[in-house]
Amino acid sequence: MKFIAYGGAREVGRSAFWLTEKKRQILLDCGVKLGEKVEDPQFPEGFEKKIKDVAITHAHLDHSGYLASLVAHGAKPVMYGIKATKDLVGILLADYQRIGKDIDFDERDVSEAIRRFHTYQFKEKFRAGGYEVRLYNAGHILGSAMIHLEGEKKVLYTGDISTRGTRLLDGCERDLRADVLIMEGTYGDEELPGTRESIAKLIKEIKETIKEGGHVIIPSFSVGRGQEILLLLESYMKSGALPHVKIYMDGMVRKAMKIYRQNIIYAKEEVQKRILMSADDPFSSKHFYVPKRRDRKDVMEEPCIIVCTSGMLSGGPVLTYLKELSWNPKNKIIFTGYQAEGTRGRKILDGAKSVEIDENEVKLKLKIAELRLSGHAGKSELLQFAHGIKGLKKIILVHGDEKSLEAMAEPLEKKYEVVVPRMLEEVKI
Ligand SMILES: [Zn+2]
Ligand SMILES: [Zn+2]
Repeated sequence: MKFIAYGGAREVGRSAFWLTEKKRQILLDCGVKLGEKVEDPQFPEGFEKKIKDVAITHAHLDHSGYLASLVAHGAKPVMYGIKATKDLVGILLADYQRIGKDIDFDERDVSEAIRRFHTYQFKEKFRAGGYEVRLYNAGHILGSAMIHLEGEKKVLYTGDISTRGTRLLDGCERDLRADVLIMEGTYGDEELPGTRESIAKLIKEIKETIKEGGHVIIPSFSVGRGQEILLLLESYMKSGALPHVKIYMDGMVRKAMKIYRQNIIYAKEEVQKRILMSADDPFSSKHFYVPKRRDRKDVMEEPCIIVCTSGMLSGGPVLTYLKELSWNPKNKIIFTGYQAEGTRGRKILDGAKSVEIDENEVKLKLKIAELRLSGHAGKSELLQFAHGIKGLKKIILVHGDEKSLEAMAEPLEKKYEVVVPRMLEEVKI
């Protein structure tokens, strides 16, 4: 058995892992790396057409963003995943096609990619690329899955995982059996703050601003944290822990909210029960408002909370709000997620006094707050997860920068054979 990373080795982004033995072969994830420029997986010349089977862990573009390109380049793969993933991939690829830079596929390729997607339930057994495959809950976003493959050996690929569980999702499945574990290490050198503390800080920051008569902007990634934050705010407002103000949702975060609602059977049981067995549906809460494009300025009139894309201020309606609200020191922007180097979000957190939006210098007088609500596991959670796998002999660490992966490799090497592969390196399993 052989493993090759065409992306996602010693980096976060463009996850694409090839697993092959005799007559079996499958690609695990097929993403792009988004940054100042888009980087594709490093497939060798002529390789793409050989890809017949692709299993997808979840909808984030660093795991799915290259699927339509594959189709555009003439490949005819079958894709496998959870139904929520198929639906979310559909809106994310369509949006990426519309607003992305240097896009080499069109709307028809997106439709064709989605048409090639076969969906399964968690734990359902099916065959893909000659392997016997099962998908297990990964706890990262709705529909996110770990992929368990059985060929000559048992292999578990985590994709992105969270062990904690959230308002909507159970934490990832534990204690599975595998000879080889391909594991993410985004936060392999970092312990994440407790969810409870982060939520308490979020509520405190919002209350302060509303009391002063200000507006709160929460930039959000379109799928995952955005929905979690919206539902969290709704429940705090309903219980009276937050003052009743309008919660505006704008941009892709709103579209993804619809798909979350349609696929609620992939959320944890208590959420499903609450929605299906009572009239109490948090997704259609009276606190949520959707501004029309031309009404965005009306939103600015009274204190409110705006949750909108994009998460690192690289585009989307958040820029319109920031432009209108940044002059007033009563207002506040709250960052809840990772801000990559070079983005406006990172510049603001590093202390910039102004940012450029549509070729205008926008002065920042509003307050700035930061907290971490992550969909990933921190270092000790990842280590615990690995130690829980039964029969485990070998670990391949991916989806993390070199520093994170090395930090995780060290404690694991005491018990397992650990590889931190380089791009295109062949790892024997
Ligand atoms: Zn992800
Ligand atoms: Zn990822």
